[in-house]
Amino acid sequence: MFGVTAALELKKRGHEVTLIDPGPLPHPEASSTDISKVVRPDYGSEIFYAKLAQQCIDRWHEWNAEANQELYHETGYLVLAKEEMQPGGFEYESWKTLVSLDHPVEKLTSSDIINRFPGWSKGDYHHGYFNHRAGWVESGNVVSWLLSRVRDSGVHLVEGQKMVGLLENGSRISGVVTDSKEEHFAEVVVVATGAWTPILLPWLSDSLRCVGQPVYHFLIPDLESYKPERFPAWSADITNTGWYGLPALPDGTLKVAHHGAGIPMDPRSEKIVPLENDQKFCDFLKSTFDGLANSPILERRLCLYCDSWDGDFLIGRDPDHEGLIVASGGSGHGFKFAPMLGQITADVVEGIDNPWASRFRWRTPGKAKTSPERYRLEIPETS
Ligand SMILES: Cc1cc2nc3c(=O)[nH]c(=O)nc-3n(C[C@H](O)[C@H](O)[C@H](O)COP(=O)(O)OP(=O)(O)OC[C@H]3O[C@@H](n4cnc5c(N)ncnc54)[C@H](O)[C@@H]3O)c2cc1C
Repeated sequence: MFGVTAALELKKRGHEVTLIDPGPLPHPEASSTDISKVVRPDYGSEIFYAKLAQQCIDRWHEWNAEANQELYHETGYLVLAKEEMQPGGFEYESWKTLVSLDHPVEKLTSSDIINRFPGWSKGDYHHGYFNHRAGWVESGNVVSWLLSRVRDSGVHLVEGQKMVGLLENGSRISGVVTDSKEEHFAEVVVVATGAWTPILLPWLSDSLRCVGQPVYHFLIPDLESYKPERFPAWSADITNTGWYGLPALPDGTLKVAHHGAGIPMDPRSEKIVPLENDQKFCDFLKSTFDGLANSPILERRLCLYCDSWDGDFLIGRDPDHEGLIVASGGSGHGFKFAPMLGQITADVVEGIDNPWASRFRWRTPGKAKTSPERYRLEIPETS
């Protein structure tokens, strides 16, 4: 997604662009695929991400119009907690930040939750708020639509090859070489290879790392209570539990995921969801939702995050490799920003000031490496 949006924007600005990907596209192991992703400006006290997400939500509406299909569904985001929201907690700080930005959020009482979102009546999550201007995107369909635009745009798409090394001309990077031994020369190389980035650019292995996160799709019997209007995208006391999920699709597929520290892994290795997760996910469903106790598992997937050491994306010029730009480090929260990432990356390529880019500038962990990932208020330390 970082790569395809950058390619489209650079082409629009008149550059000759080659996009290389091992494929098949959309790549089934890419973070950006899957049926759905949450789009939310709810970022604790992180006003930077809240504002960037608000702008992206405007752009998602524009993309819906451009695509002539509803890829982004503004069905809201339900932020739930077991206890009253407290200052310092993710739920309270997100709500407060959004109120300060005049974002339409609504505090909910326990009976509001039970009456309006009956799927939640059984469990312990009876505090929180509803964000009216948020929702979810059909992420796999978004990538397919962006790729169709790439194919129409005149970007040279090399599908079925992967970059295996950089070409150098003196101290400058002058292109890439692929596993088919093809050499592609370029003035600027943008490496946007998600979780594979620290393998391809090993000097980034202190800054970026690949972790696997379990995602489950269940087939649910009672679609009515779990449709987006009654069961919007949600997080359930996420700071303490890690649980979040999305509404059921019309075919009855319900996505539930766990956002935690993840399993550090090599992205080239087999992606096997540890067996104990079946029990953990099924227990959560059973204890939380009405009528879902025996929902069959349709799919389990170990999805790859490319975590940066501080949780911010990395979109910057490598100071030690002239001509090389990295656009990666999605850190489990990048998809919602797709409508703005291409512009940010293209501005970095062209050396144009961009108000968002400095947060994502080239940086190394240094001594701060041990500090907690700042934006990820959601992460339970123990998982
Ligand atoms: C389980 C899960 C849930 C998530 N939920 C959300 C959410 O709800 N909301 C949200 O905003 N974000 C979410 N995210 C985060 C978001 O999906 C990522 O931040 C984003 O998709 C990262 O995009 P990317 O382009 O960096 O990586 P990817 O989508 O992984 O793309 C990397 C591309 O690089 C290609 N590649 C790999 N190796 C090579 C090579 N050698 N040469 C050329 N190309 C190569 C791959 O084929 C792939 O197409 C989630 C992520 C996961 C894993």
